[in-house]
Amino acid sequence: MSRYTGPVCRLCRRETAASKTGEKIKLFLKGDRCLSRNCAVERRGTAPGQKTTGKSRTKVSEYGRQLREKQKMRRYYGVHETQFENYFREAARVPGQTGRTFLQLLERRLDNVVYRLNLATSRAQARQLVTHRHFRVNGRIVNIPSYILRTGDVVSIAPGSLKSTVFESNLDIAQNRRPPEWLEWNDQEKVAKVLQLPPREQIDTPVDEQLIVEYYSR
Ligand code: SF4
Repeated sequence: MSRYTGPVCRLCRRETAASKTGEKIKLFLKGDRCLSRNCAVERRGTAPGQKTTGKSRTKVSEYGRQLREKQKMRRYYGVHETQFENYFREAARVPGQTGRTFLQLLERRLDNVVYRLNLATSRAQARQLVTHRHFRVNGRIVNIPSYILRTGDVVSIAPGSLKSTVFESNLDIAQNRRPPEWLEWNDQEKVAKVLQLPPREQIDTPVDEQLIVEYYSR
């Protein structure tokens, strides 16, 4: 399946309109704009094409809820359908809670870790920076956004990249934001270390992974 190339704020508005609790669902696909008052979800929480704020009266089936949650999580991490399903299959092979392992796999992608370290303003930018060979893992250039990091791995910015405008600005922002505790950031050396597998309570992705487990277990 090809990557969605339309206006990404529509995706947040669609998830928000589908939310049963009425909470605003922000997928954080547009960098700093997501934190500003210009965020489309903050301005209007209606579904794309919908003019009023009235909730749809259509009853959503259990399958519909599971599908919605799966789409939300896939868009959150910016992963293609097939790859997303492969992560699930891989997680299902590991003993323990499949939903948690699934989330941990997505969190440990190199593009997500770059984003979590605040070295990119969005996962899309993180993906681009990785593809453009700006990062090293354990001293070796890695340009694969889906590269899965392990405990003990060290991520660093390629020395030649530190002076680029994008890093100057992103590093400024990173100084004032803390990465999750499963990652350790050394601001002096501009190096990060994976301290442990991400515990569920440190993953702030607003998804119910159990619904996704049920979706794939049908
Ligand atoms: Fe979603 Fe960000 Fe657009 Fe807000 S600004 S609607 S969080 S992509």
